[in-house]
Amino acid sequence: MLTEPQKNVSLAPFNSLALPALAGRYVRVTASEQLMALTGTRRCFVLGGGSNLVLTGDFDGLVLHMAISGRALIGEDAHAWRVRAGAGENWHDFVQWTLAQGWPGLENLSLIPGTAGAAPVQNIGAYGLEVAERFLWLTAFDLQTGKSARFEREDCRFGYRDSVFKREGWHLNGRYVITEIVFELPKRWTPLTGYADIGEWLAARRISTPSPGNVADAVISARRRKLPDPARLPNVGSFFQNPAVDETKAVELLELYPDLPRYPQPDGRVKLSAGWLIERAGWKGKRIGPVGMYEKHALVLVNHGGARGLDVVALTRAVQSGVSEKFGVELQPEPVFL
Ligand code: NAP
Repeated sequence: MLTEPQKNVSLAPFNSLALPALAGRYVRVTASEQLMALTGTRRCFVLGGGSNLVLTGDFDGLVLHMAISGRALIGEDAHAWRVRAGAGENWHDFVQWTLAQGWPGLENLSLIPGTAGAAPVQNIGAYGLEVAERFLWLTAFDLQTGKSARFEREDCRFGYRDSVFKREGWHLNGRYVITEIVFELPKRWTPLTGYADIGEWLAARRISTPSPGNVADAVISARRRKLPDPARLPNVGSFFQNPAVDETKAVELLELYPDLPRYPQPDGRVKLSAGWLIERAGWKGKRIGPVGMYEKHALVLVNHGGARGLDVVALTRAVQSGVSEKFGVELQPEPVFL
């Protein structure tokens, strides 16, 4: 088990935007025991699947590349299954495995790239489900104290594509390293079919009482149709968060743009579609140098070849300005910038 960091390791193969960058020091972590030897290390970055990351340049700290595997049923009662995933497990494979075991509940999150350990960091979500809704607890190794700590759901302070790990930059400052996650999958299963992509897929097949597998297939089909495969066209999925505006602003925009997609939220705010705003601001399919907004889905920033981090930063700013000038709405990027 190699714990001694390697020097000047290329991170290009480990980020789905295929951006070039060197890690000053790098360790591939396959067991939580390796972390013990790294106690006291400062300036760490915890890398999962690299599918939500923009590398803006070389990183002079220590990159911990999480590759801890393992998945198991750790408990069950009349109400739920409790299932554990090692932080390095591929998220989609893990979801498909739970479905194959007959434990539904994560099917709407099929085909999201990345690792299980990264899922709670940005509270991944899709098609009406967030990981926080199935989360029970996680274990994180504290690099300052050399001890593992358990984080319950309240400790993670989940928000929209957000958690304490992302918000407070703990993973960047290198204090807590998530090593395993436990999910609670309720035995009373209800299909979540409210999003048009799922409803239309089921209707086309005349499926009125869908199985978990049907819902997973609908999600997989929609994602394959709309999103570019990072292996062919490097990207990090949705590049901007959907903005939430107050009702006054939503009404003002609706008068100007009657076809504005809008989704009222429980807190009274109104969620807008970032993809729609970007498209209507004229950025769909538009490029600056080697990067552009994908021609089939305006929310996805793609690397057409040879891009560097600063190209991505320039396009990010240009799209933000374009949307802000046209709609008076500020977009925030979804990925982490390092
Ligand atoms: P879409 O169906 O074109 O809809 C655009 C946006 O409107 C979505 O982002 C979604 O917000 C919202 N929306 C649509 N139907 C909704 C409903 N019935 N109730 C509430 N909000 C609704 O979206 P899309 O881009 O193809 O994405 C479909 C789903 O996959 C979304 O949930 C999206 O977040 C997810 N996705 C995630 C990533 C990623 O990298 N993180 C990439 C692609 C797609 P929400 O995003 O809040 O759901």
